[in-house]
Amino acid sequence: MIRRIALLTWALLMLLSPSLVAAQVGITVTASNVDVSFPSQAVFTVNAESYVDIVDVRLYYQVNKMNYAEVVSEGWADFTPASKVEANWTWDMTNASLPPGAEVTYWWRIEDAAGNKIETSPKIMHFDDGRYTWQSLTGTVPQDGELTLFWYTGSDSFARELMDACQEGLARLTQDIGTYPKRPIKIYIYASDSDLKGAMISSNEWSGGVAFTDFGIIAISISPSELDWGKKALVHELTHLVVRQATFSPYGQLPLWLDEGLAMYNEGGLDPVLRSYLEEAILKDELISVRSLCSPFSAYSEKAYLSYAESYSLVEYLLDNYGQDKMLDLLALLKQGNTYDEALTEVYGFDMDGLDACWRATLTSPVVPAPRTSLPPALIAVLAALATTLTLWGALALEKRTWRRSSGKSTM
Ligand SMILES: [Zn+2]
Repeated sequence: MIRRIALLTWALLMLLSPSLVAAQVGITVTASNVDVSFPSQAVFTVNAESYVDIVDVRLYYQVNKMNYAEVVSEGWADFTPASKVEANWTWDMTNASLPPGAEVTYWWRIEDAAGNKIETSPKIMHFDDGRYTWQSLTGTVPQDGELTLFWYTGSDSFARELMDACQEGLARLTQDIGTYPKRPIKIYIYASDSDLKGAMISSNEWSGGVAFTDFGIIAISISPSELDWGKKALVHELTHLVVRQATFSPYGQLPLWLDEGLAMYNEGGLDPVLRSYLEEAILKDELISVRSLCSPFSAYSEKAYLSYAESYSLVEYLLDNYGQDKMLDLLALLKQGNTYDEALTEVYGFDMDGLDACWRATLTSPVVPAPRTSLPPALIAVLAALATTLTLWGALALEKRTWRRSSGKSTM
């Protein structure tokens, strides 16, 4: 009987007072969305209500990229406490440098004055470059991986040819070095340097393309008229990306000659102009030591060319003479944090000086150095401007290549 009365009272209260219904439910989220203004900001909005004032609204988010540890960030939303609120949190991307196509998982945590708390289920924010109407082409890559190419200028066959080059490059990388992509790869092909520049908020040092290794994303400008250059540039960038994914670790990193050497080797063949620098240095006995090639390459163009050519040659030497397995072992030991000398000695039995000596012994001086294409004056000016940025290459994973492109050479 008491139970029946209680039930009746409850039903009556339900009819009389809708706020008591809310009391049963606590906080209700009525809407949630995110408005992306690429590339500068994303505004997250949530609407919620309760039977008492909502007093605390926070956004939690997690960037979908390779991390050494799981990182959840928090944003305190802007709103005036009330029983019905609309709260916003604006993510200013100035320091975030999210690439096009980045994905962010986010959820809200809301609390009212009565101590009720709720957490919304996670959603994904796609940080897409909405300035263009993108077409996409997806292909498979070694080890059941996936690569998607996005473009907005050029025919289907333009995209198909770029995709073929990427797939061949990745297959070559798996065959020669034994490494393969660890996560899906997205490539955004911009039609011009200025279009690409519009996609970058905080980088004013770049030109031509950027590899966001942690995200598995490459943004690069390739117009349909420069397809051949584009194919080589993409393979070079992809190689950097896959090698860095394979060696991702808080403990160690690759020496620059190995990183650049692998990327150039996987492009297939050494550019004739770079080869001429190598041959001249052999002839004049002016090779740069392996030890010196571990740190950022010279800001002087001639030395930078030689550094890249030597890097290629060193990787070629190691792969031709010792094979894929040893290279994989070397990458694994570097990833674990061994020093360059320790890793080389354990795998090959020689340290950097030993590598230097063994490699030099295999180099034969050409009788006459190959004729070299001279650099146009405009290119020399660009190189001078790039001199200060060259040293950033390793750390920022930026690829500067306007000068490469204008010289008709491969990418770096
Ligand atoms: Zn490179």
